[in-house]
Amino acid sequence: ILRVAGVRKAFDGKTALADVSLDVHEGEVVVVLGPSGSGKSTLIRCVHQLDAIDGGAIYLDGELLGYERRRGGLRALGERRVAVQRRRMSMVFQQFNLIPHFTVLRNVTEAPRRAHDRPRADAEQDALELLDRVGLRERAHDYPRQLSGGQQQRVAIARAVATRPRILLFDEPTSALDPELVGDVLAVMRGLAAEGMTMIVVTHEMAFAREVADRCVFMEAGRVVESGPPDELFTNPRTERLRSFLSRHN
Ligand code: ATP
Ligand code: MG
Repeated sequence: ILRVAGVRKAFDGKTALADVSLDVHEGEVVVVLGPSGSGKSTLIRCVHQLDAIDGGAIYLDGELLGYERRRGGLRALGERRVAVQRRRMSMVFQQFNLIPHFTVLRNVTEAPRRAHDRPRADAEQDALELLDRVGLRERAHDYPRQLSGGQQQRVAIARAVATRPRILLFDEPTSALDPELVGDVLAVMRGLAAEGMTMIVVTHEMAFAREVADRCVFMEAGRVVESGPPDELFTNPRTERLRSFLSRHN
């Protein structure tokens, strides 16, 4: 459902993505691994259209993202049309990014109501079910600051799912959490994976990668160095770079 084809991205002339290609199929969980600065965040930010790409192309369900073909050339889409394309994806950030002056419930219902025109009662019923699934239904009327980091992140996941995205993008969703709160968040993600949600997950949680990923992608210096089923990658890394990365993260 997602095709990343030869994507390049530089910041101030410095390459962040050199030539990245990646296909994600329906229901697949792809975990992206790699050292700091290897381009993991840039990759999923480009997919989510938060950063514009310099070359290559990204397709969601066959539709070119961010550009339209005009007289043989490509032209960048306007912000509104990009926003419409972005609605078919959701991203979960390291820092949760909940809206502090909205209740938990409103954080979850805002996008379905505003961007997807769902009636309030409908959106709220859905949101309560989602909050139930992440174990936070009884916190629906609290504000984010009243919740732990792990709880806030679970609300952020409920919010991401509430718009019924085709694909969920996670950027180190547990890196900002105290270790004892990580498990609950990973459990929610594991549940989504089991239900067949298509996901790209940037994480350093190797056990999660091994257990949940259909495919792992190892990046370094803006390139995909190796990719394959986790069993293969973890037990039989083909490059010295992956081998040393794994030895540092186990
Ligand atoms: P980390 O594990 O630390 O999150 P990462 O793999 O997510 O690292 P990116 O954040 O994608 O790495 O960064 C890739 C490269 O692009 C780095 O060299 C980084 O300095 C650069 N970069 C990323 N975002 C920007 C930006 N907004 N402006 C300038 N340079 C950037
Ligand atoms: Mg990053």
